[in-house]
Amino acid sequence: MILKRLCAMALAAFPTIVQTQTPTPPPVAETSTVEDMRAALFGGVPGERWKEGLLFEGISPHPWLNSASNWFPGTEDIQPNEMRIIFMGTSPIIRPGQMNTSILVQLGNGENYLFDVGEGSVANINASNIALNELDKIFITHLHVDHYNALPYIYVFGGWAGRWHNPLRVFGPSGSAPEYGLASMIEGMKQMVRWHTDAFSVFPVGQGHDIEVNEFDYTDEGGVILDENGVKVIHWQRSHAKDGASAYRLDWNDLCFVWTGDGRPNERDVKWAKGCDVYVTETQTELVEISAGVQGVPPFLARYTIDTHHTPGYAAGYVANLIQPRMFMTTHMPFDPYLNEETVAEIREHWKGPYHFGAPDGIVVNVTKDQIWVREGIIPDYPNNRAPQFNFDNNQLVVPAPPKSREDIQNADVRSSEIDPDLYYPEGYKPELLQEWPTADRDLVIELEDLPPSFRDGMGDTWAKRKANRATLGLE
Ligand SMILES: [Zn+2]
Ligand SMILES: [Zn+2]
Repeated sequence: MILKRLCAMALAAFPTIVQTQTPTPPPVAETSTVEDMRAALFGGVPGERWKEGLLFEGISPHPWLNSASNWFPGTEDIQPNEMRIIFMGTSPIIRPGQMNTSILVQLGNGENYLFDVGEGSVANINASNIALNELDKIFITHLHVDHYNALPYIYVFGGWAGRWHNPLRVFGPSGSAPEYGLASMIEGMKQMVRWHTDAFSVFPVGQGHDIEVNEFDYTDEGGVILDENGVKVIHWQRSHAKDGASAYRLDWNDLCFVWTGDGRPNERDVKWAKGCDVYVTETQTELVEISAGVQGVPPFLARYTIDTHHTPGYAAGYVANLIQPRMFMTTHMPFDPYLNEETVAEIREHWKGPYHFGAPDGIVVNVTKDQIWVREGIIPDYPNNRAPQFNFDNNQLVVPAPPKSREDIQNADVRSSEIDPDLYYPEGYKPELLQEWPTADRDLVIELEDLPPSFRDGMGDTWAKRKANRATLGLE
């Protein structure tokens, strides 16, 4: 083996001298006629583009995409005029390829809007190279747990991971009684995670444990719940067996996104979602008899659930046809080979325009005024967190002092019985241990130029990009 390597090195040191020849240029031939070229390149179609199958005007990959077939997290910047939609969770049933429902909308102005935050969606958010402290605006359509069960995680771990300078903003409907509204749920959640937030008080917190609760009156049809940075979000009621289920519409830069959340097909959807660019609703395919055999759900239970709570495929297509979006999508649906063709057939009964599944997880939609393109995102199984993202406009990193120390919340006895590090670190090796926060009584303020570039650059990326895009949009 070693001998072989030595021989290879020797050969590399004395390369064989090869007689080089001047390459012959390709022959120049006579140009084909315009008719021949058109016939071959475009089938002779006027407009010089093949017209085939379900090709729709404006449904095509944008020139800046690295790959027209797949999205690879962290490899494409959002363009100033672009809206990017990523399906982080797509099903009411949690399974490895489909987490509970969650849709992230990213805008060219650098802002992120998370619509519903179902269990497991954080795995896909992390894998999509998005820092948890970049998620500070969360809109919950209704309080079925499959739509908000990852909220406690984002709340406490987003706070730990650098959401120190602004509260988590949560938007959601009131209910028919105070105990059914968003504010009541948030109170309950804070109670549920009380041990956790106290435990995390030994870390920098700042505003990390603050929640701005925006509970809106669910009967206030079309009410504006957010209007800032050129972004407007409105809501309306959905028929989902119990009062308080809502749909959302986001408008920005002449682009529009609707996520209806769960519910029965309704005239209100047509009224408020009319003409929206990307219209996303939920659907349940009408195959309860066969699904009973596959999923084990008794057919009467599935039928009753659909007919009181959900949108059958036929109805989804029917409503889409009244709304006439540039792209129609369905999510909150099983993605199964035995169902998918049936789903499409049901949708196509009434809707003949652009349609794509908002499933399985990782589907990415790039939206501009002229083009919309839908791709599968390649979500890695073992990604790592993205560095927390900070606004470095003041050229400082400000790390708040932890509100508590271990002495405040832990019995000294159990701490003193920790095994002496000298016993397990090997001879000659012992790191400097950081067991007491060095600035426990004051914030830690570091000038940007004093930060090692390795983490300074990683932590300001989003903000720098946001500034550049906002400058292009004339917002800075
Ligand atoms: Zn649901
Ligand atoms: Zn629901």
